[in-house]
Amino acid sequence: MITKDLLRAIRNELPMKEAIQRLGPCGPISKEIEGYFRFVCPACEELRATVNPRNNLAHCFCCDRNWNNIDLLMALGWDFVPAVDLLEQWLRQHQKHRSHSNS
Ligand SMILES: [Zn+2]
Repeated sequence: MITKDLLRAIRNELPMKEAIQRLGPCGPISKEIEGYFRFVCPACEELRATVNPRNNLAHCFCCDRNWNNIDLLMALGWDFVPAVDLLEQWLRQHQKHRSHSNS
């Protein structure tokens, strides 16, 4: 079931960098520039979408669009429900990994 809390967790708690790395060749080209994770914006195709580490949202400094994990997958051609399913799995793995390394 897709709840508001799940959507919030996918947007806030799964780092965009991790989601893009997991997409691999299916995802946008990305690069770490001066400590900021950037990727090719699906709207304007410039390497100007930059993840803000404070809120885990990306802003494109070329076309001014904002991106979260769900928006990004949908821009890459995913439907909403499969995108949320996939991101939820990645989120669970991310949380598991984190609780492991904290203990
Ligand atoms: Zn853009």
